[in-house]
Amino acid sequence: MDKHKKHIVILGAGESGAGAALLAQQQEYDVFVSDGGPIAAAFVRELEENNIRYEQGGHTEALVLKADEVVKSPGIPEKASIMKKIREAGIPVISEIELAYRFAKGKKIIAITGSNGKTTTTALTYDIFKKAGLNAACVGNIGNSFARQVALAPADYYIVEISSFQLDDIQQFRPEVAVLLNITPDHLDRYDHKMEQYAAAKLRIVENQGPEDYFIYCLDDPGINQYLKNLPVQSKILPFTTMEPLKEGGFIANKELNLRVGEEEDLVVSIYDLALQGRHNLYNSMAAGIAARTMDIRNEHIRASLTSFRSLEHRLEYVASVRGIDFINDSKATNINSVWFALESMHQPVVLIMGGIDKGNDYSIIAGLVKEKVKAIVCLGKDNHLIHDALAQHVPVIVNTESMHDAVHASFFLSQKGDVVLLSPACSSFDLFKNYEDRGRQFKQEVHAL
Ligand code: ADP
Repeated sequence: MDKHKKHIVILGAGESGAGAALLAQQQEYDVFVSDGGPIAAAFVRELEENNIRYEQGGHTEALVLKADEVVKSPGIPEKASIMKKIREAGIPVISEIELAYRFAKGKKIIAITGSNGKTTTTALTYDIFKKAGLNAACVGNIGNSFARQVALAPADYYIVEISSFQLDDIQQFRPEVAVLLNITPDHLDRYDHKMEQYAAAKLRIVENQGPEDYFIYCLDDPGINQYLKNLPVQSKILPFTTMEPLKEGGFIANKELNLRVGEEEDLVVSIYDLALQGRHNLYNSMAAGIAARTMDIRNEHIRASLTSFRSLEHRLEYVASVRGIDFINDSKATNINSVWFALESMHQPVVLIMGGIDKGNDYSIIAGLVKEKVKAIVCLGKDNHLIHDALAQHVPVIVNTESMHDAVHASFFLSQKGDVVLLSPACSSFDLFKNYEDRGRQFKQEVHAL
């Protein structure tokens, strides 16, 4: 260990930890990576190629506690015993985005958070910036971690998708543009089951902003309104809503999306021309469009992107039509709120495939929409009894299945021409699948095999 260099320990070596290690090494810290489990082969190779010291399968306390600073990966809970020891030792802890920010100063950062819609909005915002010809990078959940991008391919604009876990350990992180899409219950297990703590983490996105920065948020979201009330926000506020015209921000009026930001003329797009359909995507489109306007991107680029952007895999993704029945893959809907928006955007009778590992869902939130639109629920997963308890009384048919093959066949049997079969699980996938992508792909395979 080099005594003259700052000694940094990276806890966790997934995409964010590996990226942080590369950046820290490049910036001449003395780096040590420690992962409690196995490290993926590709990351091991990368660490070795860059002469970065590491361990896997457990944390050697004596080595970790020598750190001057710890970078904590988002997957590591505060309750992990190594975290307790680090806190007791008083070692400063930062997140990977804080480290990346340290070396991205002077660049423009557009940070996007929320319980749902982050990836979609980040990808859409990036698309607009690219259409405008800017040197932009899209980082976070899609593509590189922020730290990796800063280390390997610096850009002028960083469009960053940020989870609450990343915001938990920021210090100076200050985006020029902060976007908050919504705050609904998710990941509460990491926040002592307290909604206030989860909301406080999300709202940290504005904590270091000043009067020249922008805060873009959804005015219709009860969660944001509730928790924003007591928060002094320094930045310029640009809200968006589907309810009423605004003096500044984004709104829907006469079936048109309007963006009104600064001196430039309003951008007006018919909602029928938007590439991403559904009420939730009106919000995502407005958020991305306003973010672009704050950076003086011309209306023509924003319009081109909002009307041509292709939806991402596993998010209300159209799969196929078989004998007049449409199949839609919304495997990424891992909480109840995203299922609500999926159902709300359906215009045909629905056979709904849902279930998996329950994350503390309140299924009654979708009872009204189930009653109105769903003709059958096909449960697939470990915690089906909770779905039965909450929804059986609101739907004519509810059945249990134990594999994607059976779920797709049961749905096909229960539907008829003109119906839609929607996979929108509201739950995690780890009981029967590797992850939500695996669940979505198995669904598509089974549909194509019908
Ligand atoms: P995240 O990255 O926050 O998980 P995604 O863009 O991957 O968000 O979408 C996750 C799920 O949430 C999908 O099922 C999608 O249809 C739904 N969704 C997308 N945007 C919103 C929104 N603004 N509000 C509620 N649900 C949304």
